Order: sequence, then C-alpha cells, then structure tokens
Amino acid sequence: IIEVKDLNKTFLLGELTVDVLKGINMSVEKGEFITIMGPSGSGKSTLLYLLGGLDKPTTGKILIKGQDISALSDEEQSIMRRREVGFVFQFYNLVPNLTVEDNVMLPLLLDGKKISKYSDKLDEILDVVELSDRKKHTPRELSGGQQQRVAIARALINEPDIILADEPTGNLDSKTTEEVMNLFQKINREKGKTILQVSHSLETAKYGNRIINVKDGRVWE
Ligand code: ATP
Ligand code: MG
Repeated sequence: IIEVKDLNKTFLLGELTVDVLKGINMSVEKGEFITIMGPSGSGKSTLLYLLGGLDKPTTGKILIKGQDISALSDEEQSIMRRREVGFVFQFYNLVPNLTVEDNVMLPLLLDGKKISKYSDKLDEILDVVELSDRKKHTPRELSGGQQQRVAIARALINEPDIILADEPTGNLDSKTTEEVMNLFQKINREKGKTILQVSHSLETAKYGNRIINVKDGRVWE
C-alpha cells in the first residue's frame, strides 16, 4: 500500500544543509501495523510527514497505492492527504473551542462535505472509540486518553486506508497508553486499516507486527 524508493530529505537552514533522510527504501503491505523506532533526531517524524504528504521529498519517490504522490499537483496532494491518510499527533491537536463531534467532523467540513449526512457515521466512529457519551464536550473537559481517542476518531472519519501516528501515546500514562494501543489494534484487525506509528517504547511496538528502525537517516530493519 506504501512504497518508498530512495527517499532523501534535506533541510536548508540559511547556509547550512541538513541531510535528514538519506536513501530510505521500505514497503508496507495493506493491513500491516508498523512501529517506526529510532533515536531522537533520527528523522522519524520527517519520514511520517512525507508519507502523509505534509511535506515534500528532496529526491526519491513515495507511492501510495501505486500513485507517486510527489507527481501530484498541490491540489491533488491535499485531496490525497484528506482521503487516503489519517494523521494522529502526540499532542492531539484538537481545536479547543469545538465540541468532540465538531472536532471529529472537521476533516469533512474542510473537504466541503455536508456534515448533516454523516451523523450515522459519526455515531459509528464515536462508538468505536468509546466516546458516544462525550459528543457535546470540549477537549479540556476530557482526559488525555479521551482526547487522543477524539483525534483517532477524527483520523477515521474520512475512512482512510492508512493511519499515520506520531508518538500517539508519548504524552500518556501507561494505563491510558494500553487503552489507546488496544484501540489501534482493534482498528487494524477489525477495520483492516494499515497503521504506521512512531514510538520510543518497545511496549507499544508489541501491538504491531513489525518494527522499522531509523538511525542517522537510514532504515535498519
Ligand atoms: P524525535 O524522536 O525527537 O521526535 P525524530 O526522529 O522525529 O525525533 P525529526 O523531527 O524527524 O526527528 O527531525 C530530524 C532532524 O531534522 C532533526 O535534526 C531536526 O532538527 C531536523 N528538522 C526537522 N524538521 C525540520 C525543519 N522543518 N527545518 C529544519 N530542520 C528540520
Ligand atoms: Mg519526532
């Protein structure tokens, strides 16, 4: 479902060039649950952002379902980003003054959809993340784990086949981590979503089927 070919990413900082990813090759099959691990600064988040079309490669190719995403126009790329991938961040990135249901619906609104048509789907997804009774709450009325479950619901609302999660439990205690990881496992097994998570913990890697190690901008499987 994802194929990465000789991917390089260089950041320019004034006079300085920083080679962050140096020839990444990897492929991910549909239905996999992969954990990307590696030291701080090794390029894990950069890799995830490139896979999600949030940034562009310097050189190399990323194929999502056979489609070279860097060959897409900006417009097509933003459509791809909204329809094919769901993104989950370490600090949830919810909109503080919107309710749970509005946060979850936000990608549909941005996609120009008529959200009143999606209330059944909203209910179904809130049921999956076990937040049906929190629809009208705002993020600050929720625990960290609940907020992350709202972010996961938001990532699912467009029914993307791929979920990208950058340290989704990095800010959670161990009990809540287990709760969120069980949810990812359920989404992977029952809904067949392909999941790539970045994590520093072998404990959370156990929920996946494979670890990809990134070090010094290269993949060491
Ligand atoms: P961590 O585990 O700490 O989250 P990481 O593996 O996710 O680390 P990245 O965030 O991908 O690491 O950063 C890799 C390197 O790229 C770092 O040296 C960072 O300073 C650099 N970098 C990342 N984004 C940018 C940017 N927008 N501009 C310049 N340099 C950047
Ligand atoms: Mg990171």
